[in-house]
Amino acid sequence: MMEFTFFCCLITYGVRGSITENALQMKINNIKFFDSNTNQFLDRDSVEIALVNDAKANLASQGGYLIPALTDIHTHSDFYFDSDIANQFAKNMGVTSQVGGLCGFHSVFDENRVTRESFEEYASFLGTKGSIFNSYEQLFAQAQQADKQHLQLLGLNAYLFSYPVDDTTDLDDYVEQIAVLFEQFPFAGISVGLAYHPIKTLSDELIQALLRKLIARVPTAYNYHIRNQNAQVFESLEEVFACHRGLSAHCHISHLKFAGATHIGKVKERFADFQALMAAQDFTITWDVYPFSFACTTISAFLPESDSWSKMSEGEVVDFLLSAPPYDFENVIIACGNPAYNGFKLHEIAAKTNLSVENAYYKVVCELEGIGSYFRQFCTEEDLATLVFADDAIIASDSLGVENVHPRCTHTFTKALACAHQQGDAAFTMMVDKLVNGPKRVFPQLQTPNQYLYINFDDSVEVDLSSLDALIDKKISQFALVTLK
Ligand SMILES: [Zn+2]
Repeated sequence: MMEFTFFCCLITYGVRGSITENALQMKINNIKFFDSNTNQFLDRDSVEIALVNDAKANLASQGGYLIPALTDIHTHSDFYFDSDIANQFAKNMGVTSQVGGLCGFHSVFDENRVTRESFEEYASFLGTKGSIFNSYEQLFAQAQQADKQHLQLLGLNAYLFSYPVDDTTDLDDYVEQIAVLFEQFPFAGISVGLAYHPIKTLSDELIQALLRKLIARVPTAYNYHIRNQNAQVFESLEEVFACHRGLSAHCHISHLKFAGATHIGKVKERFADFQALMAAQDFTITWDVYPFSFACTTISAFLPESDSWSKMSEGEVVDFLLSAPPYDFENVIIACGNPAYNGFKLHEIAAKTNLSVENAYYKVVCELEGIGSYFRQFCTEEDLATLVFADDAIIASDSLGVENVHPRCTHTFTKALACAHQQGDAAFTMMVDKLVNGPKRVFPQLQTPNQYLYINFDDSVEVDLSSLDALIDKKISQFALVTLK
C-alpha cells in the first residue's frame, strides 16, 4: 500500500481579497503534473494540495492528473453574474476563467434609448434579468467581483440595439464613439453576431462598411458568430474575412460547425478547405468548437429573418422551410415554458396537433411569441471528432443561461477530457495542451490561474463524443479544483 496522509485543517488563502475558508489538505502520491513550460505531463511522487471550498472530500490519495484550471473563452457569463447555479456549473467543469459578451451580446443597454423591457426580451435567452445593466461601470464592477477571472467583450449587436444605424448614419462618427467606449473600459475584444438582430437585417453593404471601419480603428480580437454554418458556411466565412484583409486585427470564429445535410460525412474535406482558406489570409485566425453534435439556440432561428418572423404569413414560413429543409427537422426538440411542447420533438407535436412538422413548428413559434429555444443534432459524431481533436481546435462552451440547462453548461470540458483520455496518453496530453494554451492564443492578457484541476478516470468505463452526461460523470472517478501547497 502506498503511504498517504489526509488531514483536515483551517487555512487562509487569497482569491480576490483575503477569504478564509474551511479547506481540506491532502497529499496525493504518484500523480501526473502538467508542466506548462514543456506542455507535457511529469511524474511526481507526491503533491500536497488544498481543496477549494466546495470540492468533494472523498478523493483518492494516489494517481490521477493535475492540470491548470481551465478558461472558457465562449460564455454568456455576463448574463448570469447573479446565478450561483451557473457559477457552480463552470467550477464543476474545472473552469475558473471566463470570457463573456459573445455572439454580439453584452448585458448593457442605454435606458435613454431603449426600454429595459425591450432589452430583456431581446436578450432573454442568454441568462437572468438580474445581470442586465444600464451602464458599463456596473457591468465591469460585477466582473471585478466575480469569483473567477472574467474578461468582457463589447457585443456589437447589443450596442446596435441601443444605437441603431441606417444608410444615413455617419459611420466614421459612429465607429469613433465605439472606439471611445472600447478604450474607456477594459474590454478584451469585440464580438459580432451576424445571424442575430439587429445585424442580420442590415444591408450587406452597411454591415461590411461598418465592420471594416471598426476593425481598422480598433485592432483588437474580433469574435464572430458567422451568418450561416450550414450550406453557406464558406460564403459566411468570406463575409468576415473580407473585412479583415490588409488589417492587423485578430479574427476568431466562434463555435465552428459544418452543420446540416450538405456536410454530413464530408467534414474532413470541408475542414481541410477551411485550413487552406485560413492559411491564405494575411491576418491571424483562430476558431473554437464545443464537443456536442447538437446545438441549442432561439426557437425562431429556422425562420429566414428570425426577428421579423411575426410579419410573415404561415404559408410563407412553410414554403421557406420546405424549400430548404433544415437537417433532421422532425427531431428538433423544443425547450420552452409551455409543458405541452417542452421536451417534445417536432414530429411528436405534429402528431398530437394533426399538423405537418412545418405547420406544427409555426404554431409553436407563434404561441411562444418567439420566446423559447430548441435542441437539434447538426452533424455526426465522426464529423464532430474531426473538429474537436484537430491540432488547432480551442474548446469553448457557448454556455447559455440556466433556465433551459444545456449539457454545454455542465459537460463541455469534462467531456473533452474524458473522451481524449479514452484515446490514450498522447491524445489526452494534446487535449490538455489545447485547453491550457488555446485560450491565450486569442486573449494573451489572460492571467495564469492559481487553481488546478485534479482529475482521474475509470478505465473500465468507455465513452465517446456521443456519450450522455451520466456516462461522462461515471468515467471521471476523481474531480476537484485545488490549490497547490
Ligand atoms: Zn454564444
